[in-house]
Amino acid sequence: EESIMSKEKEANINVYVRIRPLSREEIIAGDKCAVTALKDGKTAQVVEEGGGYKLTTRTFKFDGCLGPTADQDQVMERLKVVKMLDSVLEGYSSTIMACGQTGSGKTYTMSGRDEGVHKGNNLGKMERKEDGLIARSVSYLFESINKRTSNSDQEKIYTMRASYYEVYNEQVNDLLRLDAPPRDVKWSSKDGFYVDNLLLVDCETLDDVFAVLEEGSRNRKVGSHEMNKDSSRSHCIMTLHVDSNFWIGDCAPITRYGRMLFVDLAGSERLKKSKSSGEMLRETGNINRSLFTLGKVISALSEGKRGDGMVPYRESLLTKLMMESLGGNSLALMIACVSPSSSALDETLSTLHYGTCAK
Ligand code: ADP
Ligand code: MG
Repeated sequence: EESIMSKEKEANINVYVRIRPLSREEIIAGDKCAVTALKDGKTAQVVEEGGGYKLTTRTFKFDGCLGPTADQDQVMERLKVVKMLDSVLEGYSSTIMACGQTGSGKTYTMSGRDEGVHKGNNLGKMERKEDGLIARSVSYLFESINKRTSNSDQEKIYTMRASYYEVYNEQVNDLLRLDAPPRDVKWSSKDGFYVDNLLLVDCETLDDVFAVLEEGSRNRKVGSHEMNKDSSRSHCIMTLHVDSNFWIGDCAPITRYGRMLFVDLAGSERLKKSKSSGEMLRETGNINRSLFTLGKVISALSEGKRGDGMVPYRESLLTKLMMESLGGNSLALMIACVSPSSSALDETLSTLHYGTCAK
């Protein structure tokens, strides 16, 4: 029984850490590099300076650890994202999440350097180098769909649609419809928890997906400005719906519903005390509840406790919405993003702890 459980653990949920390079500002400020990736490719090492000559070294082990020289292409490869995408094409759900403090590289990892802005058909390979996991995944899906459709005698029709919403203060806002009121979360036996009335955009080209990313990230900023919210405090979820219909003989078509979730989680940093008005406190409470519950959910899943009731999905809105794409046959990936800077060490340690506990 032991071996079945550890097999499930390996198959269904993996936690990686990505250490970004020191930024120009950090280098100018004289920050030191306090976090490194060890040669085994799995361990993050943190070196803390005590008083005088005292150095404390701590290590944290994950399914994989990517250092500052790992580029977007290597991240895609090392995290075995293609395996997840293949299962999505077969009608399963998969989830990739990025956690970490603000400025640690979550959005860079998911959406690329400029979140889809100014991308066009005529960009060369160099400009695509910093595309994030979303764009790379969509490219792979389109390629795969084309191959599957042309190499098969079975008739298969795939459709791809995308939605983009944020969870902010236990409320869902459609990032593709700025003027719409908050959306309701409902439950059905077919879909589990889902967001009602969400705009789904048909995507036939990579540019369609970039347009969704660009619109969503712009609305995230505009919306937060108008409503006086802090956009780093929202969880952003981009969902790709990959549905396939196939006909075998003259029978009615069989439809499979594949789902790929990309979750750019809220910054995990604690708010500065000076900033905590009543509203801010409520906000922090809700963010922490979601992140805390998510940690518990992942932990329960990686221990192989799959029975309903054992996994505390229902304790936060975020985990309710991720329920169908975290348990069961889904593949999931958590990327803990950290800055290597000595000045960010407190938050980095808390992210590394979070990541190892979630394992
Ligand atoms: P977050 O979304 O966690 O707040 P960002 O993804 O916006 O953080 O990253 C903060 C800054 O660092 C951005 O300017 C981003 O372009 C840059 N950055 C993050 N990760 C990397 C990386 N691996 N390589 C180069 N630049 C990065
Ligand atoms: Mg971000």
